Amino acid sequence: MRVVRFYAPRDVRVEEAPEPTADPGGLLLRVRNCSVCGTDAKIWRSGHPNLSPPRVLGHEVAGEVVEVGEGAGGWSVGDRVQVIAAIPDGTCHECRHGWPTVCPNQERIGYQHDGGFAELMRVPAQVLAVDGVNRVPDGLSFAEASVAEPLSCVINGQEQARVGEGQTVVVVGAGPIGCLHVRLARARGAARVLLIELSARRLELAAGLVGPDEAIAAEGTDTVDAVLELTDGRGADVVIVAAGSGRAQEGALRMAARRGTVSFFGGLPKDRPTITCDTNIVHYREVAVVGANGSSPAHNRQALDLIATGAVPVADLITHRLPLDRTVEGIHATTSGEAIKVTVEPQPSGVT
Ligand SMILES: [Zn+2]
Repeated sequence: MRVVRFYAPRDVRVEEAPEPTADPGGLLLRVRNCSVCGTDAKIWRSGHPNLSPPRVLGHEVAGEVVEVGEGAGGWSVGDRVQVIAAIPDGTCHECRHGWPTVCPNQERIGYQHDGGFAELMRVPAQVLAVDGVNRVPDGLSFAEASVAEPLSCVINGQEQARVGEGQTVVVVGAGPIGCLHVRLARARGAARVLLIELSARRLELAAGLVGPDEAIAAEGTDTVDAVLELTDGRGADVVIVAAGSGRAQEGALRMAARRGTVSFFGGLPKDRPTITCDTNIVHYREVAVVGANGSSPAHNRQALDLIATGAVPVADLITHRLPLDRTVEGIHATTSGEAIKVTVEPQPSGVT
């Protein structure tokens, strides 16, 4: 079979690999869609401390079961499934408290386990053990189902940021994650959603798809002033930074309303993780700062449900469909802003 394997930064190869078989307690999938994440671009550029090369990349996976491992009850060949990316151990202090997203023993598909940029993917038994395989609802395509994983991370972020009825929400960053944030905020009842983005090209593409109330081009604009002006000086109830930018995080704190919440949804580069922050904003204005680290198996199920019911449509966000051999091109299209969501379809044409 063909796979896309990471060896080192800027060394990602499409190559032949032996066909895997299902582990006891696990499954083997024929991958129908594996979508490209911004993290794949980071990995391509600089690797990742938790990724052990050589490794097949890809963690936004939907496909069909082609083999059921011994003892993997409840699954049959032909089942259409979506798979979690972050695998909590289910037993540690954090997991027992219901916080699997911060499980310190978390492993990930495409990091410690071979991922979905491949014709076939093994689903480890530990994924099934934490209820991490979900049936794709009838009527939902594999491509849409593959977007459940990034949407699940967005759900985790907005739960923590307590996005809700009547709020003004600012989303900074108009990539695929920013677009999902805009749509989910609306689904959760936000009254007004403002979208801020540095790249004019990406902002135009994204705004055309998700229709924020205001699209603010950050280049040459004081975005803090812009948000304050649009909110009669009050600021936004929730500011979500879906961009790996320290400056954007600093600005977010100054855009937040009294009693508002700032979500540092995107991580900063490991070598530059600090910002300068006027902590009196947090103190006097009672602003809360929250994070978001991936998602839980339950968030993945919620995401599939939101997509299937039409509460958060994703089909139109998939702007590029590429064969496996063009995965790296897809990763670059995500970074350049020419694409919103890129999905890779690993099956050779003719396979239905
Ligand atoms: Zn745990």
